[in-house]
Amino acid sequence: MPGVRPPQEAPTSRSDAELIAGLRRIVGNEHCLTRPEDLFAYGCDALTLDAQRPAAIVLPESTEQVASAVALCAYLQRPFVPRGAGTGLSGGAHPTPGAVVISLTRMRRILSIDADDRIAIVQPGVVNADLSAAVAHHGLFYAPDPSSQQVCTIGGNVAENSGGPHTLKYGTTTDHVIALEIVLPSGDVVRVGSDTGFAAGYDLTGVAVGSEGTLGIVTEVTVRLSPIPEAVETLLAIFDDVPSACRLVGRIIESGMVPASLEVIDRRTIEAVEASVYRAGLPQDAGAVLIIELDGAACELQAQLERVRAFAYEEGVRGLEVARDDAERARFWRARKGAFGALGRLAPDLYVHDAVVPRTKLPEILEKICEIGDRHRLRLSNVFHAGDGNLHPNISFDRRDPDELARVIEAGREILELCVAAGGVLTGEHGVGNEKRDYMGLVFDDVDLDAMRRLRDVWNPDGLCNPDKIMPTTRPCMESNPKARGYDAVPID
Ligand SMILES: Cc1cc2nc3c(=O)[nH]c(=O)nc-3n(C[C@H](O)[C@H](O)[C@H](O)COP(=O)(O)OP(=O)(O)OC[C@H]3O[C@@H](n4cnc5c(N)ncnc54)[C@H](O)[C@@H]3O)c2cc1C
Repeated sequence: MPGVRPPQEAPTSRSDAELIAGLRRIVGNEHCLTRPEDLFAYGCDALTLDAQRPAAIVLPESTEQVASAVALCAYLQRPFVPRGAGTGLSGGAHPTPGAVVISLTRMRRILSIDADDRIAIVQPGVVNADLSAAVAHHGLFYAPDPSSQQVCTIGGNVAENSGGPHTLKYGTTTDHVIALEIVLPSGDVVRVGSDTGFAAGYDLTGVAVGSEGTLGIVTEVTVRLSPIPEAVETLLAIFDDVPSACRLVGRIIESGMVPASLEVIDRRTIEAVEASVYRAGLPQDAGAVLIIELDGAACELQAQLERVRAFAYEEGVRGLEVARDDAERARFWRARKGAFGALGRLAPDLYVHDAVVPRTKLPEILEKICEIGDRHRLRLSNVFHAGDGNLHPNISFDRRDPDELARVIEAGREILELCVAAGGVLTGEHGVGNEKRDYMGLVFDDVDLDAMRRLRDVWNPDGLCNPDKIMPTTRPCMESNPKARGYDAVPID
């Protein structure tokens, strides 16, 4: 136990005092934070629409410490919220008032690498990009690559079932996780899945991945590693407008090719990138650029490259650059992976939206999304995983302006309704969190939602583990308002 220090702030109530004393016994004084500035820093994730004040933050270093902290919370009937790097964009790690935030960032060891069986076992606080770096000398990498991969954690990726630019070919996190150790909300520790990737009985690994920290705390993750492809070709296609870029995406996919990535960046995002440290030399008068990445056996790539080139010219590409080396490839990707950071400079707040539509509907939906932004007088830009139809309309705003904040929320609602009406879904990769829980009724009826609620209640019967996430607190009246596909909020009793 680390050296004893006096409490950093007087606890607010007797039950807080008991809680904090107990947590300090478990993780040590210095790993239980209660100063106002600490509570402030953990009050939200990268969704800054609102923030709450937790009671304490604990930073355990082992499964045993996580289990003890959870058991204490269960005993005191105190809500708790697992947290990785806090880069989530749907409020998944937002604490409810008085909750304990359990941060997994000290559990960041890669426990084992088996290059022959191509698996690794990691603690949840391992940073995504660090895992690929650690296995690169074996000719392997960890495929899910959220654009936040330099900081986000594998535990957060598991909870959100994160994707990334290479989801098109490699799938999302669920396709790469084969076993988990989980501290259940009771404090019990269970193992699900197996290191072979096969397991008898219910697929509880599948249940846990994407459960947004509402079923327990992941303390160990067994992942599949993938071989680094023999060859990679990265192209930057420059277009006058977004629909032309989307048409090329359609041509490539319909031809039967499976590129590693097809990412569109629109004009406003290009301007933001070029004005930032992520500057990549993109043409600022372009309407859109499309990053196309092909990977696989070297002998196949040249033919694919030529086909893409031919399709691009047929679709009216204005310019086509092929990365000559890794440095140039990194330059293209710097623009894409730095896009949110660059947009973050435009205003105090950035609302990164996330929805999926059928890929063929991208041009029409994007036009309507821009109309919504204009109608609400908002600065809206688009950067998206075009091959998956996974949109990210981004709104730059200032939450201190209540009128602007209201327009941001209204525009967000309209965008979701538009995407769902087009046959899409509420989220491709950022999760539901507390951001979209009250939109769940747009895509699920009461019976669907009840099935989900009952599943959650088996694992998390007291609702203490990450409360107020995923499940709606209001019920949309779809029948009474079919035109608008719902949205009369009715409180649930
Ligand atoms: C600039 C930027 C770019 C991004 N790009 C992408 C992208 O390309 N693709 C994508 O999918 N996402 C992206 N995101 C969103 C975010 O990075 C991912 O959701 C990521 O997986 C969150 O990881 P984290 O460690 O920050 O988790 P947090 O934000 O801390 O937590 C996310 C959720 O996971 C839960 N959680 C965290 N750790 C655990 C655990 N050990 N056990 C159980 N539950 C846990 C939390 O309760 C919360 O619900 C981006 C975010 C930013 C800011």
